[in-house]
Amino acid sequence: MTRDELRTNLNFYKDLGIDEIYLRPISSPVRVEGATLTAPTAIPSLAPEGDTLLKIRQDIGDDCRRCRLCEARSKIVFGSGNEQSSLVFVGEGPGADEDAQGFPFVGRAGQLLTQMIENTATKEGIPIRRPDVYICNVVKCRPPENRTPQPDEMEICGQFLFRQLMAIRPKAICAMGSTAAKALLGTKEGVTKLRGKWHKWRDIQVMVTYHPSYLLRPYNQEAKRESWEDLKKVLHFVYD
Ligand code: URA
Repeated sequence: MTRDELRTNLNFYKDLGIDEIYLRPISSPVRVEGATLTAPTAIPSLAPEGDTLLKIRQDIGDDCRRCRLCEARSKIVFGSGNEQSSLVFVGEGPGADEDAQGFPFVGRAGQLLTQMIENTATKEGIPIRRPDVYICNVVKCRPPENRTPQPDEMEICGQFLFRQLMAIRPKAICAMGSTAAKALLGTKEGVTKLRGKWHKWRDIQVMVTYHPSYLLRPYNQEAKRESWEDLKKVLHFVYD
């Protein structure tokens, strides 16, 4: 990597609120105003030491304009739930209800998700309710017409998702739908192939399952049953 590429990369991370990156020291550290890098290799997307959800939210800012999704959104939807949870659910991006209220999964898909979490937990004898888990999305702003987020939008906002996950450090992540699976596992493989099995994001276990919106379609009853199976696995793994 040239010094210019390094500088560009550092500025990108600085823009995300990451001011300091510590790697193996080399003889001449590169300095960018407010940021220092001391290594010759690629910059990993590591969360800064002592990162918190509050700091990440502040770094996003009240009027984030890092990608085109800012143009049509009303509210940034950061995440909600127990910030020390052992389980994090990751969706794709806010829909119309979430955009209006500023909280994830509050519309129809959200109601289904709540039911799924709470009914499965009750049936399995696991004493948790929706507020006991943390819920967030890959992108924090609503894509117009609920379209799938584009790769650059996922890349930019994904850094905040990764920081959220590093700050919470859950025992498991449940990736709902192909966008979440792609963001976390870097694969183009479909949910049907990925679901029901354990994967890893960094050192954290990831279960992929269907997105609740997909389950709302009446002809997807078999997928609904499979999602219940996936959720059972996750809940037992995390809470047994
Ligand atoms: N779909 C998502 O992926 N996230 C939400 O917050 C709501 C619907």
